[in-house]
Amino acid sequence: LAALPAGGPAPTDVILVGSSELSAPASPGPRRDLAYEVKVNQRDIEDVCICCGSLRVHTQHPLFEGGMCAPCKDKFLDCLFLYDDDGYQSYCSICCAGETLLICENPDCTRCYCFECVDTLVGPGTSGKAQALSNWVCFLCLPFPRSGLLQRRRKWRGCLKAFCDRESENPLETYKTVPVWKREPVRVLSLFGDIRRELVSLGFLENGSAPGRLKHLDDVTDVVRRDVEGWGPFDLVYGSTPPIGHACDHPPVWYLFQFHRILQYARPRPGSRQPFFWMFVDNLLLSQDDQTAATRFLEADPVTIQDVCGRAVRNAVHVWSNIPAVRSRHSALASCEELSLLAQDRQRTKPPAQGPAQLVKNCFLPLREYFKYFSTELTSSL
Ligand SMILES: [Zn+2]
Ligand SMILES: [Zn+2]
Ligand SMILES: [Zn+2]
Repeated sequence: LAALPAGGPAPTDVILVGSSELSAPASPGPRRDLAYEVKVNQRDIEDVCICCGSLRVHTQHPLFEGGMCAPCKDKFLDCLFLYDDDGYQSYCSICCAGETLLICENPDCTRCYCFECVDTLVGPGTSGKAQALSNWVCFLCLPFPRSGLLQRRRKWRGCLKAFCDRESENPLETYKTVPVWKREPVRVLSLFGDIRRELVSLGFLENGSAPGRLKHLDDVTDVVRRDVEGWGPFDLVYGSTPPIGHACDHPPVWYLFQFHRILQYARPRPGSRQPFFWMFVDNLLLSQDDQTAATRFLEADPVTIQDVCGRAVRNAVHVWSNIPAVRSRHSALASCEELSLLAQDRQRTKPPAQGPAQLVKNCFLPLREYFKYFSTELTSSL
């Protein structure tokens, strides 16, 4: 069994500003007393934060029985859907921090657990025993719901959705994650920029398989609702302003409005519970006013994702999306001035090493909780 350092290997091309503060270990003091409080003092575990041991409980932990304090709740919301380049979640599924992580070896699971949580909640020495096993399966995958003080919530997927809807400041709806046996391959509509290569490398599409899984369109001028409904249904709609070096037949904002128009055709009916995701990426072509229009039309705030080499920002994109955790990948190294200089520079110089689709690639990893994925370079190399 492999144990990973928390946060896994740092992504080489994108620096995540938030990740260092997010991985700060929870203070070990009160946590040591957690088992004592519950077992000896007979305190209800719902009245203790199972992430840090604090008694100032704000809400209930969505996955396991127990409470959660306000700071841990914020950390949990930020990190829950963050994935590393290896395809595993970056942080512990209990406390969303953790120094060293155990990874679940169920091939359909991507969860990690920190040694401290496992030793505190399941029993001292459990992490060592788990590490020695050749095939350790996590607390959400085990057939039985309880291990020591760690008790999986009944209907935890529903609890997780309710938790995100209730606690998140993000007004976008969260969809309930899908159990493995119900996951289907994702159906993608990709406009202007093609993301086939990225989705294949993440395992969402099989190389050379059913072409119906991804429909790519460069021009949508004549596309009407009937066309999109005929090609669909879709689970993910992607669009971008043209990558550098591509001929731009229209003003940049045209791509935004066309994306928005086609998105309306592709959306499931109102009230549908079907997970439906979208992403619009601007390769720094939209003006400030256009960006404001994008935020208004798409009803989501943009985040900036950068390709950084040393201190130099080599490329950056603005992303609007309802995929979980895109917000947590936000990096704010470059100022607005730097980005506008970068945008001007790029009109003159050769295309950047990483195109927009590559820059946002890891933002698609949370879709593993919703759609089937095939064996990939990521998983086969482990
Ligand atoms: Zn806490
Ligand atoms: Zn933990
Ligand atoms: Zn698992």
